Amino acid sequence: MAADCIFCKIISREIPSNIIFEDEKVVAFKDVNPQAPVHVVIIPRVHIRTLNDVKDYSVYADLFKAIQHIAAEMKIDRNGYRVIANCNRDALQSVFHIHFHLLGGRVFGWPPG
Ligand code: AMP
Repeated sequence: MAADCIFCKIISREIPSNIIFEDEKVVAFKDVNPQAPVHVVIIPRVHIRTLNDVKDYSVYADLFKAIQHIAAEMKIDRNGYRVIANCNRDALQSVFHIHFHLLGGRVFGWPPG
């Protein structure tokens, strides 16, 4: 756990959030600033700053297993959904604990802005 990390504090319940799923490896909660009718943030329990810092790639299996499960639970699996990860400045990463955004419930444009 990183002392100054907001997502680590969500995991430890030091700050409140709307957690919708968790298992041994992963926690998922509703984004406070939703960009779609469904907007869930999926994070590993282990603190990793950016995608560049991933060394054990099994973290991706854990996260995408959760994404598949949550998409079905939220009933966006059939119509479709988008999964986004922002890395560093140009992508506007704002929280430095790796995460995927799961977005659904509307039609998205392509290419993304
Ligand atoms: P990113 O810009 O990719 O780093 O995404 C970080 C996301 O975390 C943003 O969409 C924020 O709205 C979201 N976020 C920040 N703080 C919280 C929080 N306390 N609870 C839920 N979502 C949060």
